[in-house]
Amino acid sequence: MADRGLARLILSRRGYSAITFGHVVVSAGQPPDAIWRHELRHVRQYERFGCAFLPLYLLWYRRRGYARHPLERDAARAIKLFDA
Ligand SMILES: [Zn+2]
Repeated sequence: MADRGLARLILSRRGYSAITFGHVVVSAGQPPDAIWRHELRHVRQYERFGCAFLPLYLLWYRRRGYARHPLERDAARAIKLFDA
């Protein structure tokens, strides 16, 4: 189990309600269903890219930011598909 203090610090500093590390989803509280689906999509992405996931995520984040990030856009589409 992750250190709750560290996880809370990361979440609050980044302004996120949840974040995913591989197969572990860390949340400051019980996330809404839409956030769960978004984070579970990141788990699927991690399964696909393996060890390349984090470097790829950071590279795209640096080049495109959050809003235009391909993995975030993919995760956002996952929410819309399930909510439709
Ligand atoms: Zn995301």
